[in-house]
Amino acid sequence: MHKLPVIAQIGDPILRSKAKPVNKISDPTIIKLIDSSIATATANLGVGIAAPQISQPYRLFIVASHPSDRYPQAPTMTPTAMINPRILSHGEQVVKDWEGCLSVPNIRGLVPRYQEIEVEYTTRQGETSQQILTDFVARIFQHELDHLDGIIFTDRITDPADLYTEAEYRQLISSKERH
Ligand code: ZN
Repeated sequence: MHKLPVIAQIGDPILRSKAKPVNKISDPTIIKLIDSSIATATANLGVGIAAPQISQPYRLFIVASHPSDRYPQAPTMTPTAMINPRILSHGEQVVKDWEGCLSVPNIRGLVPRYQEIEVEYTTRQGETSQQILTDFVARIFQHELDHLDGIIFTDRITDPADLYTEAEYRQLISSKERH
């Protein structure tokens, strides 16, 4: 088994840099990067990971939605590589919901995101894909796209009171479930 890459943590300058476009998808560096990103997201139960999080400054990320305590309705997806991703358009509705990040351990926050976005990206097979994403998957896409521009989810928090530790977040969620 190959050793998994280390996940860059908040404070590491790579997380604040703008990633560069992927020019050649068939480049072995890129193929390897996709595989190790998927392996890292899977091993850490992440619903997404962006290349800069494993210290590779390329515009690509993995979206790997799966249901969790907080998002029982989340669709289960085969981990999908999205290369040179961008948002073509978005709906008007903005919703706040919980996010966490493998690069920001022990922190959760309520982050406003577009509920619906139209996106375009190149697939690992080199094809252009256009899709409408909604809700949780749209949220993952926006979170990961931010990583490619050096933005971390805590930057998007509009009310400082929306920032929680993991333990406080768990307590809040479970007390809401009881009532
Ligand atoms: Zn993240």
